[in-house]
Amino acid sequence: MISSEHGSRNGEAGARREGSRRRVVILGGGFGGLQAARRLERTLAHRQDLEVVLISRENYVLFTPMLHEVAAGDLDPADIVSPLRKMLRRVRLIQAEVSDVDLAARVVRYAVGALRRPRELAYDHLLIAMGSETNYLGSKDAEAAATTMKTLLDAALLRNRMVALLEEAAQETDETRRRKLMTFVVVGGGFAGVETTGAMNDFLRETVRYYPELDASMLRVVLVHSGKVVLPELGARLGCYAQRKLQQRGVELRLETRVTGYEHDAVEVAPGNPIGTMSLVWTAGIMPAAALSSLPLEKRKGRVKVNEFLEVAGHEGVVWAVGDCAAVPHGDGGVHPPTAQHAMRQAVAAARNIESVLWGDAQKPFRFSTIGQLASIGHRMGVAQILGMRFSGFVAWWLWRGVYLGKLPGLSKKLRVAIKWSLDLLFPREIEQLVTLRDVEGMEKLGATLRAMRVVAEPVGGAASGTASAALGHGRC
Ligand SMILES: Cc1cc2nc3c(=O)[nH]c(=O)nc-3n(C[C@H](O)[C@H](O)[C@H](O)COP(=O)(O)OP(=O)(O)OC[C@H]3O[C@@H](n4cnc5c(N)ncnc54)[C@H](O)[C@@H]3O)c2cc1C
Repeated sequence: MISSEHGSRNGEAGARREGSRRRVVILGGGFGGLQAARRLERTLAHRQDLEVVLISRENYVLFTPMLHEVAAGDLDPADIVSPLRKMLRRVRLIQAEVSDVDLAARVVRYAVGALRRPRELAYDHLLIAMGSETNYLGSKDAEAAATTMKTLLDAALLRNRMVALLEEAAQETDETRRRKLMTFVVVGGGFAGVETTGAMNDFLRETVRYYPELDASMLRVVLVHSGKVVLPELGARLGCYAQRKLQQRGVELRLETRVTGYEHDAVEVAPGNPIGTMSLVWTAGIMPAAALSSLPLEKRKGRVKVNEFLEVAGHEGVVWAVGDCAAVPHGDGGVHPPTAQHAMRQAVAAARNIESVLWGDAQKPFRFSTIGQLASIGHRMGVAQILGMRFSGFVAWWLWRGVYLGKLPGLSKKLRVAIKWSLDLLFPREIEQLVTLRDVEGMEKLGATLRAMRVVAEPVGGAASGTASAALGHGRC
């Protein structure tokens, strides 16, 4: 058991713990969490009286704008992640699953390792940057059947699944079933949905050439979107351009259509007939991280409500929230959109405000307007709006690559990606199936073993409950 550093609070707004270093804890190592940690590493983490801790599920930051390139086999999974430990030398990193925050006691609870051993950590200042999860908008069938495009594994498995379905289709003699195997449905016409559709379409049409039993006319890639035009953030003109280009490349668009369920290998849509498919990719909605749902915090559409200083309502000077999980007020009465550029800027502003509270200075309000937005729509085409100027076609795609290559963390990753993109011009993409059914069954067995080990390690009531924690000698550090 790790001994307690959770001393009594002296009642100051900063909740200084007597006789110990003050601690700033950041939850989530994504765009927001990393950016805040980098700032605090420079300004606070070297001080003897302060400690900065980052708790995150993964020990890397995932560069989501390039996720569809992994799904399309243009990049490898390792190319678009950067290890947090290499970027943060003075910030203490804890790879763990955050389960709860006791806001009154100022304690974060989390589970560590394969056995999910419960631990807790006291904080003086907390920055919540736990991002978002996929929102299936109440469709349980779709949730059970769909894959998403949120994590590195999602992208790697999507590529793998496309190859697996083509392999199966090549051996299928039943025409109806073969059609289903060769139909790929993406739900959601926002950035993630359009980029994923473009990437999947390119990958499938290039890969099907290696299957003599199949031909490209058998492929059906369908994008289902509830709005009138895709990419609504970029305006109707660029949205219509993206639609035209996708259609020219064979993508079928179902606009003003909602997915209502998934049954008998078919996506149910309204209006319209079900679309028979074995592959449903869901990018239609997001909701804040699950661990935040039970916290007694004021929320707006599930996102934690913060003021212009990014302080959480009711916990000013102690708790801040940024990024996808935070409802950050905009001057016009709305909230800032859930994008990486907003998360990163909010994180720097929140980190600065934490420094101000520690140093007794005045906090500064967060002000930011979107600089630009770019989307790659496949086949070396893109759409972009930067500082009010619109770009489309090859120029926009080239801008997309240039901008995001510049933003990818780490020089070595930048070089790797630049080299791979250059090689792409010379060689066809890789089309092998890396994970076979046998591997999946092996992983299922491993998962079952892990679950069994946890049952042995945890008393009835679960690791997160107080009694279970006490019985296990709840580690506190
Ligand atoms: C496919 C795709 C493409 C995108 N493209 C773009 C783009 O081109 N441009 C753009 O600006 N934005 C883009 N986005 C949106 C962008 O990724 C998000 O807005 C951004 O990641 C938000 O940053 P964040 O720090 O709030 O959350 P994230 O970056 O999601 O980070 C959250 C972190 O918290 C961790 N976490 C969550 N719950 C727990 C828990 N219980 N315990 C421990 N850790 C936890 C997560 O593992 C993660 O590390 C895209 C998103 C997707 C999915």
